[in-house]
Amino acid sequence: MRARLTADGYSVSDEIEGADIVIVNTCSVTSFTESKTGRFIRSISRLAPNARILVTGCFAQQHGEALLEYPGVAWVVGNGDKHRIPEILSSAGNGGTGVGTAHLADIDKGSDDAFWGGRVIGPGESGRTRFSLKIQEGCDYRCAYCIVPSLRGSSRSAPKGLLIETFKRAVDMGYKEIVLTGTHIGQYRDVNKSGLESLLEDFLKIPGDYRVRLSSLDPRDLTDTLTAMAGGDGRVCPHLHVSVQSLCADVLSRMGRPYGDFDLLMERLRSFREKFPMSGLGADFIAGHPGESGAMFETTLRNAELIGFTYGHVFRFSKRRGTKAAVMPDQVSENVKTARSAALRELLEKNRGKFLSLLFAHPLYIIIESENPARGVSGNYIKVEVPESRPPKNSWMRVALMGAVRDGYCIAKET
Ligand code: SF4
Repeated sequence: MRARLTADGYSVSDEIEGADIVIVNTCSVTSFTESKTGRFIRSISRLAPNARILVTGCFAQQHGEALLEYPGVAWVVGNGDKHRIPEILSSAGNGGTGVGTAHLADIDKGSDDAFWGGRVIGPGESGRTRFSLKIQEGCDYRCAYCIVPSLRGSSRSAPKGLLIETFKRAVDMGYKEIVLTGTHIGQYRDVNKSGLESLLEDFLKIPGDYRVRLSSLDPRDLTDTLTAMAGGDGRVCPHLHVSVQSLCADVLSRMGRPYGDFDLLMERLRSFREKFPMSGLGADFIAGHPGESGAMFETTLRNAELIGFTYGHVFRFSKRRGTKAAVMPDQVSENVKTARSAALRELLEKNRGKFLSLLFAHPLYIIIESENPARGVSGNYIKVEVPESRPPKNSWMRVALMGAVRDGYCIAKET
C-alpha cells in the first residue's frame, strides 16, 4: 500500500496527527484483536479530528458497512478490493466525493486481484532492511476455530514471473532480508503445480547480498527438503515457525486439523532441533479449544517440551461467529484457558533460556534495522541490541551474545 500510494504521489507518514487520510489495515483472528482494533479506530478521530479514515483488511471484510458508523471512517475496503485503494482514494478527490462508501467485492476473485492487479508491486523505499513478499492468499483448509477462509477466500498463488521480478527488484534496491508471506504459504502452487520448495530454489538462483525467511508454515506442509533448507544451509534463514496449534492428536481432530501421521510430524520437529540446534524453531498454540481436557493439554505440554521450541505464540481459544468451534458444546472456561496459556508460556520461556545459553558460544549475523541503539534480528530469529557499536542501517554485523536482555533484545557485542 505504501509503495503504491507513494508512486501515486501521496506523501506517507507514520504519524497520525496531521494526516489527511489514515489507513487502518486490520486483523480479525481473535475477538481480542477485533476489540483492540475497534478502540484504535475510535482513538484516531481524537488524535486527528479532520482526518478521513479508510479501514481495510479482515475486520473490514467481517463488519462491512457497519464500520462507516465509526467517527471519521470514510471508506471500508474489504480484502477483495484492497488493491484498488489508490483508485478509491483518488476517485474521492479532495472534495470528498465517494466518501462514506463500502467496497466489499467477492473475496474469491482470481490471483490478479489478490496480488495488486498483477502489477509488480516492488519495494517503495530503498534503505529499508526487510521486504515482505506475498506469494499466496487465502486457504483451502477449514479448521473448526478459524474465520480466515471466510474473510480471505480460497487459496490462490501469485504468478511466479511476478514474484521473481519483484524479488529481483527488492534485492537490487538493497533489501537484505526477503520474507515470504501469505495466509498459508505451503499452499503456494505455480501453474505447473510446483510448490514452495521449487519457488524457493528459483529465488535462490537470483544473485545478491540477501537472505530469505519463511513465515509461518502449517505442519502439513513440512517436508524433509524444507526442514533441511531451514537448517541454515546457504541463504535461507536457519528458522522455522510452525503453526502446530496443539500437539495432542485428539484436540487436533476436534480442531479439524488432521496431521495424518502425527508421529512422523513429531519426529520431524524433534529431529530438526537435534540436527540443527542453532536454528530457531517457533510455534503457534491455541490453549483451551473446545473439548480440550486437562490430560489432552498435558500431552501438548509434554510434546512441546520434547521438541524444544525456541519460542512460541500462545493464543487463548477465541469464539469466532460462524465457525464450528464457536458452537461446540464442551467450551473451556476462561480461567482454565488463562492457566493453560500461562503454563505453555512458562515452558516456552524456559526453552528459550536454554536456546540462548547454547548460542553464547557461537557468532550470530544480524542485519542492522535501527541505529542508536543498533538493533537487528539474527537469522535464527533472536532480537539483538549492540549498544557499543554505531553501524549503518541495513549493514550486516557479526555479533556474540553477552547474557543480558533489555526490552526483549539480547545484548551483544560486535566480533
Ligand atoms: S490452515 Fe490456518 S488459515 Fe487455514 S483454516 Fe486452518 S488455521 Fe485458518
